[in-house]
Amino acid sequence: MSEASAQSEQPMVSMKRLNKWYGDFHVLRDIDLEVAKGERIVVCGPSGSGKSTLIRCINHLEEHQQGEITVNGITMTQDIKRIEQIRRNVGMVFQHFNLFPHLTVLENCCLSQVWVQKKPRRDAEKSAMEYLERVRIANQAHKYPGQLSGGQQQRVAIARALCMRPEVMLFDEPTSALDPEMIKEVLDVMIELAQEGMTMLCVTHEMGFARTVADRVIFMDEGQIVEEAPPETLFNDPQSPRTQEFLSQIL
Ligand code: ADP
Ligand code: MG
Repeated sequence: MSEASAQSEQPMVSMKRLNKWYGDFHVLRDIDLEVAKGERIVVCGPSGSGKSTLIRCINHLEEHQQGEITVNGITMTQDIKRIEQIRRNVGMVFQHFNLFPHLTVLENCCLSQVWVQKKPRRDAEKSAMEYLERVRIANQAHKYPGQLSGGQQQRVAIARALCMRPEVMLFDEPTSALDPEMIKEVLDVMIELAQEGMTMLCVTHEMGFARTVADRVIFMDEGQIVEEAPPETLFNDPQSPRTQEFLSQIL
């Protein structure tokens, strides 16, 4: 893509002067963020800095009070139709997988396709099996989540999100509930997704992952974006003392 056409393309996600409070607590402060189509962003920062809240605002799992969020050209309002329209563009993967425990892996992947997208069951199953294949878990399709390891469950959660053919994927610490030996299998799937050109916003402290795929790393503290830069720059030459202190604890 030429630089000119890249510049003229609208951002996939845009936040302008976003502010959010939980009661009196000012959790997001003047967040300005633009994510281009195909861009991979890693968000890091101390616990409680607002990372989850930030990405949960993108699909209105959290409501903001000031500022503007636009996803794939659709600006967020209170209107449920508009919110649903935005949600159709956004896939999300959570720290604790959030699979439906009473449904099989295959049924987990078909549910929204059938009920939200109104696909015939046979088509939904075909698509589900393709994505389960891609995350290398198709052979477990008829098991229940409780019969799988954490790493396997998280790969199912990724497949389930991909079944909805989202334009952007949000990951909220997808490997932090996993035993160490399972982290790689999930990160490998995420790396493949990134290399296929998916627009991604990932909250994670996996700095190896950030170095491999991130176009930009965003460091948040106390509800603000303190610093952002490509991974090499941010990790090797952090400017803010807050970033330096945080990185010295995790690197
Ligand atoms: P992070 O993901 O960076 O750890 P969060 O976005 O989860 O941070 O939370 C940011 C701050 O907001 C924390 O201090 C947290 O306690 C507070 N918080 C999160 N969710 C709620 C809520 N539903 N009600 C009140 N405070 C909340
Ligand atoms: Mg969080």
